[in-house]
Amino acid sequence: MTDLLVATRSAHKLAEIRRILGGVPWVRVVDPGALGIEPSPAEDDLEPYDTFEENARSKAAYFRALSGLPTVADDSGIVVDALGGRPGVRSKRFAPDTGLEGEARDRANNEHLLELLGARPLPERTAHYVCVAALDLGARTELFRGEAHGLVLGRPRGWGGFGYDPLFFDEELGRTFAELAPDEKHRRSHRGRAFRALAEWIATHPEALAGSRL
Ligand code: IMP
Repeated sequence: MTDLLVATRSAHKLAEIRRILGGVPWVRVVDPGALGIEPSPAEDDLEPYDTFEENARSKAAYFRALSGLPTVADDSGIVVDALGGRPGVRSKRFAPDTGLEGEARDRANNEHLLELLGARPLPERTAHYVCVAALDLGARTELFRGEAHGLVLGRPRGWGGFGYDPLFFDEELGRTFAELAPDEKHRRSHRGRAFRALAEWIATHPEALAGSRL
């Protein structure tokens, strides 16, 4: 068994990633809490960059230095065409700062997005999710990018997923990501795509992971 640190404080992301990586039998996923790495204010400054790639790299490098383990971090967000690509890398803190966290913040973000899009008709509401997973092995970092394309509906639908999922409509399935069972979402989602590519890479490079532990 090789430990792989998944560097996230989001229970939602962790659950999704655990499930997606479940197919690699000799990898045991651990999270910062399980290693006794307590949340620190320094973590708020790990994603200042304008690209998902740089932010994912930065998070992975930070937790790799603390843990000595092969570490994967993801940076993700939603890119809305009519808003010139916003919120993009700023998806988590899109709504004007309210001091809200968790589901309350997700709701505020969704309301803000709906407000900015106003009464635009559906064909002008195209968007895509992006997820970049950075696997930091010390000597090298591998990047895996996944995207999922869809539309931002005018009002929320469904109770699953998290974040912008109740607004994100998958045209091929005719449902929002919040209306999909977890495995259905992973088949289609940006995170599913990025982490399946990562899992495939790990499966074909077993020595890279085992040899990178400090
Ligand atoms: P970060 O990757 O921790 O910087 O945060 C990404 C933010 O993008 C989340 O807080 C959500 O608002 C949004 N996001 C990323 N992935 C998803 C997803 O799968 N569903 C819904 N929202 C997402």
